[in-house]
Amino acid sequence: MAPVRFRLVVEADIVANYVKQNNAFRQDAAIARECPHCGANAQLIPVSTPSYKALVSARPSQVALGFSCSACGEPRFGKARVRAYEPERVVLSSKIVEVERARERFQLAYLPEQARPLFEEALACYTADLHNAFASLCRRTADASIRQIGHAGLTSWRNAFASALELGEIDTAPAEIMRAVLFGDLETMPTIDAEIAAVLIEVMKDVLYQIHVRRAKFKAAMQMRRYFAEEGRVNKVTSFRSKRGQARSA
Ligand SMILES: [Zn+2]
Repeated sequence: MAPVRFRLVVEADIVANYVKQNNAFRQDAAIARECPHCGANAQLIPVSTPSYKALVSARPSQVALGFSCSACGEPRFGKARVRAYEPERVVLSSKIVEVERARERFQLAYLPEQARPLFEEALACYTADLHNAFASLCRRTADASIRQIGHAGLTSWRNAFASALELGEIDTAPAEIMRAVLFGDLETMPTIDAEIAAVLIEVMKDVLYQIHVRRAKFKAAMQMRRYFAEEGRVNKVTSFRSKRGQARSA
């Protein structure tokens, strides 16, 4: 099973990007990110960067940058904060906020029909930073999954949720917020921020994996084992018979 991991990454902002007086774009360090098109953790090649003259005359606090993915060549877009206007260059932050982020992935095909479109939209909301829409859709996904399982559904969800909390070593405060989102009163569902959303998405993936994906894969593997075991028995019998019936079939 995939370990619980968190998406929040604190990047050091020591290195910088520069727009020189001759419009040349310089980077202290290359930037690599997961590509939403090809999925590779590939370098962003700068292809469209602002001119020095335009920056100095408008003096924006943020600039738009165009890159291409070094793996697939698709265009990538980002924004960077201007750190300083210096006489011979403009200093930009190395933190590139990407306009189009990599999509969150999950093996949706294993989810029950009623839950699948809800969780698919939940992932899209998460990618778009719509944290409360994401939380609401997580709740609807949980409800749909619980209904599909039947009378043991709620217990299964509570057990899988507890197991995910333990595996992720999640603190009490975020755990209680997530518990209220997934199992609490709908009218008093708490609002969540980016940090809780980052934990909730991993918890949801883990719970859905435990309840639906693992079960389906295990069942399929067992069916395959039984099939081959039965095939083996049949083949043994067949080969015994075929020896006796050799003269007829020859
Ligand atoms: Zn790519």
